[in-house]
Amino acid sequence: MLGVGFDPVTREEALRVVVGLAEGGGVHQVVTAGAELVMMAGRDPALSASLARATLVLPDGAGVVWASRRLHPPGLPARVPGVELAAQLLQLAENHRWPVFLLGARPWVLDTLVTRLRKTQPGLTIAGARHGYFDSDQERAMARRIARQRPRLLLVALGQPRQERFIAAYQDHWKDLVAVGVGGSFDVLAGVVPRAPVWMRRQGLEWLYRLLREPKRWRRQLALPAFTLAVLRQYLADRQR
Ligand code: UDP
Repeated sequence: MLGVGFDPVTREEALRVVVGLAEGGGVHQVVTAGAELVMMAGRDPALSASLARATLVLPDGAGVVWASRRLHPPGLPARVPGVELAAQLLQLAENHRWPVFLLGARPWVLDTLVTRLRKTQPGLTIAGARHGYFDSDQERAMARRIARQRPRLLLVALGQPRQERFIAAYQDHWKDLVAVGVGGSFDVLAGVVPRAPVWMRRQGLEWLYRLLREPKRWRRQLALPAFTLAVLRQYLADRQR
């Protein structure tokens, strides 16, 4: 879609694929992409190339599911919200005894999350946890640190597209690992930021909820009307052809 290839899987299928990847070895990148990331990739060939190399690209957003149904019917089966994926991956990690590394979020948010996970998922092995406020010249050291802890699941919550770039840039440092960019999920899983009410999620209005909570996102969210226009343009061009 607009240059980004999505995997047409349901959330359950995606989780089964991740189990296969984590148990099968090798290093794998999993991306959850919404309209904003698709638009960023359109402007950034290096980001676009790293999304093309990712093992799994899942639709995180009502906009990309809508667009897939317009442009390539029958389209993608459903959205796979990053925060729900992150919660389910932590559950799988506990069940399968995969050591987990958590990278990202503000220091106190990460501490709150780790404390919460120790209570709610006592069987989970947290191999390491580091907050996400470090300079880019410390990234390599961070990647090495992750390698030393030998996690099987790495959740990276640095925001898009930094987390996708980080995973793509340093995956050669790691061994037998599934690395997933999970955006603002740590804030939600730590109980610091609420998710949109269910009715808003059902109506595909999570973006509006986030905009109302964080008005300074408006600039980023200009990507949403731009995405809609690009999809409609593509749709009309396809029909003319
Ligand atoms: N973050 C971080 N380091 C940074 C910038 C952001 O760890 O330098 C974290 C931030 O604290 C939050 C997440 O990255 O937990 C980004 O959240 P956002 O809702 O913006 O995610 P996105 O919409 O980019 O997926």
